[in-house]
Amino acid sequence: MSLDELYRQVILDHYRNPRRSGSLAAPDAHADGNNPLCGDEIALDLALRDGRVIDVAITGRGCSISQASASMMADRIVGKTLAEIDALTHQVKRLLDIEEGDPGLDPERPGAVLGDIESLAGVRRFPVRVKCADLAWTTLAEALAPHSGTPT
Ligand code: ZN
Repeated sequence: MSLDELYRQVILDHYRNPRRSGSLAAPDAHADGNNPLCGDEIALDLALRDGRVIDVAITGRGCSISQASASMMADRIVGKTLAEIDALTHQVKRLLDIEEGDPGLDPERPGAVLGDIESLAGVRRFPVRVKCADLAWTTLAEALAPHSGTPT
C-alpha cells in the first residue's frame, strides 16, 4: 500500500466513523465554522475545567477532508491544556503550509509527526482543500479564544 493510499484510508475511516460526534448539553465553549468554498460546516462544543478541555462533541457536514480533520482533532484534544491545544493547532497549520516552518515532532509519539493528522499533509498540493482541512482548527481557536489566559 502506498503512503497516499494509507493516508486516504485513514481519512475515510475518520469520515465514516467520526470520533466524538454529537453535542454537549451544557458546553462551556462553542463555535460554528463554515467553509463556503466547499460547503463544509462544523459545530463544536467543548467542556472545560481547570484550563483543560475535558470533553468535546462535534456535528458537521461536508467533504471527507473537513469532517475527517474535525474527527482527528476531537480525538486529540481531550485532556489537553489550552496552551497544549494552541501548540498543536500551530503544528497542524505548519503541516498544512498555512504557517511557515516545520510541524515538529509529536511529543506523545516519538518519531511521529502528528499521527493520524499527518494524513492531511497531502492536501497541501490542493490549496482549495487546505481550507477544508483547516476548518476544524480555526473553529477550535474561535471557541477557545474567550477562555485563553483565564483558567476556567
Ligand atoms: Zn471541503
